[in-house]
Amino acid sequence: MTMSKRIICLILALIFCFALAAPAFAADPVAEDDPRIIEMKSKIEGLKREAAEAKQKRQDLEGQINEARASAMEVQSQVNALQAEINAYQAEINALNTQIGLIQQQLDENEEAMEDQKLQIEATRELLGQRLRAMYMAGNVSTIEIVFEADSFENLLNRIELVTRITKHDQKIITDLKNDIKELEALQVKLEEDRIELQASKDEVVASQAEIKEAKKSVDAKLAVLEAYLAKLNREDAQLKEIEAQAEAQKAAYAATIYNMIHGSTSEGDGTASLICPVPYGSAYVSSPYGPRTLGSKTSFHYGLDISMPGAMDMDKRIVAAGAGTVLISSNGCSHNYKKYSSCGCNGGYGNYCVIDHGNGVIAFYAHLTTSYVSAGQVVNQGDTIGIMGCTGYSTGAHLHFEIRTNLSGARSATNVNPANYIHVP
Ligand SMILES: [Zn+2]
Ligand SMILES: [Zn+2]
Repeated sequence: MTMSKRIICLILALIFCFALAAPAFAADPVAEDDPRIIEMKSKIEGLKREAAEAKQKRQDLEGQINEARASAMEVQSQVNALQAEINAYQAEINALNTQIGLIQQQLDENEEAMEDQKLQIEATRELLGQRLRAMYMAGNVSTIEIVFEADSFENLLNRIELVTRITKHDQKIITDLKNDIKELEALQVKLEEDRIELQASKDEVVASQAEIKEAKKSVDAKLAVLEAYLAKLNREDAQLKEIEAQAEAQKAAYAATIYNMIHGSTSEGDGTASLICPVPYGSAYVSSPYGPRTLGSKTSFHYGLDISMPGAMDMDKRIVAAGAGTVLISSNGCSHNYKKYSSCGCNGGYGNYCVIDHGNGVIAFYAHLTTSYVSAGQVVNQGDTIGIMGCTGYSTGAHLHFEIRTNLSGARSATNVNPANYIHVP
């Protein structure tokens, strides 16, 4: 059987025992040495040991949790350092990629320029060839003709001079273009060298980064193991906390039953006749009624009447006794006074709360208080401030969970009644 199953069985067994063992308190007072009271007192002692044992186990666990947490933090800092190194390498790789990209762009541009110049050379050659062919053909008809067609010797000289000049001009263009190409070719070689060098640097950085990534993998794995271990310890801690809370709550219920058996059903209150709204403000409203309700995807039965009001989160709203009565339970052990979407486990989710016996089988629970001001055995009058509205226990927002039970020892479903039948919320 797993640890959690064993704990659930234990809790169920405990609840079952209480349901059977704790009788509804008698209407007539009984003596302190009544065998039922002696038996309940011994059960209370057992529950005390139970709670103390769970507490001791939790204290032992706390050391392990702290140790595991410290180790996890240390490994986490290693992970962070390695990640920082990986990021630094990545920045280097990015910078090198940018440089390589720029050089590649230059290489491409130069390639294009060389292509252009080659085309220009071709064009110039073509032009020159055409001119020379034209002149040659003219000469071919008759060289003498060129000479004789010139109407003067000066003209002839001019013609020869012109031909020579054109040829020279074209030759110079070609020579210049060829020189340009040579320069570009030299530049291409240099750029290609740079590119290879940069690529080599990049390969080195990528290799270093891969090494660190590999190293990080094993540290990541170590961290995952530690985190799983820590989660397991925390689950155990929560289970022990639950056992402790259950034992405390049952202990309180026994104590309340004993109190009522000895003192009789309290005569301080007059029960149902004239209970007032325990949230004494005109703006109070029902935020969740008694009955089945759906929270998220879960439907459950809501055994109380939730009463809230604007400004409830200020945690300064008074809660008053709905009627006169005797305080049976008062607990201020929960320090989790804030909105939450799962139970902190304190007092079975009630958080800080008090229970007042208003007489005639009306026992009211005032739960999720910031603070309960009363103490067990205290007699209160209707309208007395008994605490401050809060958000302790399993509470998603500040409100009063007002619950009425006809007695404390039966199953909740059998003893709970709808508080809306007893009070009027404005
Ligand atoms: Zn709590
Ligand atoms: Zn509620």
